[in-house]
Amino acid sequence: MKIKKIVDLSQQIHEQTQVYPGDPQPDFQPIATIERDGYNLLQVCMGSQSGTHADAPYHFAKEGKTIEECDLSLFVGEGIIIPVLGKQPREPITLEEICPYLSQMTPGKIVVLHTGWSDYNGTDQYFSHPYLSVEAAQAMLDRGIRTFALDTISIDDTGSNEYPVHHMIARDGGVIIENLTNLAAIDFPQPFFSLLPIKLSGADGAPMRAVAIQFA
Ligand SMILES: [Zn+2]
Repeated sequence: MKIKKIVDLSQQIHEQTQVYPGDPQPDFQPIATIERDGYNLLQVCMGSQSGTHADAPYHFAKEGKTIEECDLSLFVGEGIIIPVLGKQPREPITLEEICPYLSQMTPGKIVVLHTGWSDYNGTDQYFSHPYLSVEAAQAMLDRGIRTFALDTISIDDTGSNEYPVHHMIARDGGVIIENLTNLAAIDFPQPFFSLLPIKLSGADGAPMRAVAIQFA
C-alpha cells in the first residue's frame, strides 16, 4: 500500500493558540537547551483539549470511557466530508443538510463537518461558529456513526451553557474531534482519516496530530 498524499488537519499549538473560554493557555518553557545542557527539551503545560483534539465520553459522562480507554477504531477510518460552508455565525447545521449523506453512513465511518470556520481561528468570530443540531446528531447516531469531527472549537454552540450534542454522543460511547483545520486541502475522494489522540491517563480528551491520507 502506497501513500500518495497526506493532508495535515491540525492546528499549531503555541502560547497564543486560541482555547475554549476558561481553558488554560498553553505554556512552553525550555527545561534544557543545547547551549547549557547539550540537548533541547521543553516543559509543556496545556489543557487536555487545546488545539486539534478528541473528546472522550468521560468529558460529559461520569461513567463514560476516558480517552485512553476508547477503542482506537473510533479514530481511524474512511471519512464522509459534509460541506456546510457559508453558514451564519451561531447557525445550526440542520438535519436537511445532513440528509443527502445519511445513506453512506455506516458504523465505523467518520463524519467530518466542513464549515470553513477555521478561517476565523485567532479571532473572536471563531467562537461564533455554526454548531450541530440535536436532530442532525440523532440521525447520524441512529445510522451507527460514533466519530464526529469538525473545524470549529465545539460541536455545540459556544455561546450557550448547554451541551446537548456532547451529551448525546457521550451517552452512545462516541467521540468528537474539534478544531480541525485545512479541510479545504482534501482534494481527493474517499479520504482516510487518522485522528489518534495521545494516551493521557484518565483524561476527558487529548490533543492529536490529525491527517487525511490519500492512498495511491
Ligand atoms: Zn467538545
